[in-house]
Amino acid sequence: MLRIGTMNDTNTTYDTAVRDADFDDFADSATAVTSDASDADEIATTLAQWWQTNARDLPWRFGRTTPWGVLVSEVMSQQTQMGRVVPYWTAWMDRWPDAAALADAPKSDVITAWGRLGYPRRALRLQECAHVIAYDYADELPHTYDELLALPGIGDYTASAVLSFAFGERIAVVDTNIRRVLSRAFVGVESLGGSASPAERALAKRLLPDDDSAKCRRFDRPSVVWNQAVMELGATVCTAKSPLCEACPIAGKCAFLRNGRPGLGQRRTRPRQRFQGTDRQVRGLVLNALRGLPDGETVLDRKSVERLWKDHVQLDKCIASLDEDGLIEILPGGGVRLPV
Ligand code: SF4
Repeated sequence: MLRIGTMNDTNTTYDTAVRDADFDDFADSATAVTSDASDADEIATTLAQWWQTNARDLPWRFGRTTPWGVLVSEVMSQQTQMGRVVPYWTAWMDRWPDAAALADAPKSDVITAWGRLGYPRRALRLQECAHVIAYDYADELPHTYDELLALPGIGDYTASAVLSFAFGERIAVVDTNIRRVLSRAFVGVESLGGSASPAERALAKRLLPDDDSAKCRRFDRPSVVWNQAVMELGATVCTAKSPLCEACPIAGKCAFLRNGRPGLGQRRTRPRQRFQGTDRQVRGLVLNALRGLPDGETVLDRKSVERLWKDHVQLDKCIASLDEDGLIEILPGGGVRLPV
């Protein structure tokens, strides 16, 4: 039985330099995988079993959607929790089931359908991506990392995730959740956020299970299950601030737990900015007002715009930035509308 209450979670003084040295030593070692090399295989087996019974039943999982559907889910989930994404993804895929359908949709429809997913520039980038897939790749997602990475709005994480989750390729997927779980379980130190370091990428690669693809459906391949299970554990159990070690299937093998969870919750990045009063809030108010216009109306006149936010200097700055991002158009007289 684990005794989490005895651990020093919050008062640990933690030296970042020591932590980095630990990680680099670990990643540089060709053989080190926790204190016992067999732990890695055991953890992979345990996590695969845990995944079978604990994976959230999201509609883009288990081979139930197209590669395009997987890509849409990944773009929507980049800065939004997966649970919140489901209704948006479902409506989006009903309306635009493939890249060709989205490519030429009116921008105003695309921005409206993005709803409250946040960071709406992602919607326009996704449409640009759809355009390239539809017209340069005959509406089929490319299958190589370099081609995926060259698509608008697609970075290393999304390219790797699509290769793994949609095509069953053996490739290490490195996102915040995966980095946190691997750092904690295998190196025994906290993952500090920021960009993935070469050592973290090397660790993710080294731990990726081998595939015997001839025997498995794409989404059952060991490397795919591993990527998804580690990510899911990070999202639901091994969370940043309050990991549920009591409920964790790999607690018995976790180096971080064994070390007393040193530096739990410590992060290299700045704390997230509060939302209230920010430009993000003001931009959201303008977009939501436009999305909420009655059928047949497309323009929010200047008076209506001014009613949205008292500080008109901030309001105008936000309207200018929305216009620059291509998310709205400013009309003569100061009214605004979604782009067509
Ligand atoms: S035991 Fe705790 S810290 Fe270790 S992997 Fe599980 S949830 Fe994370």
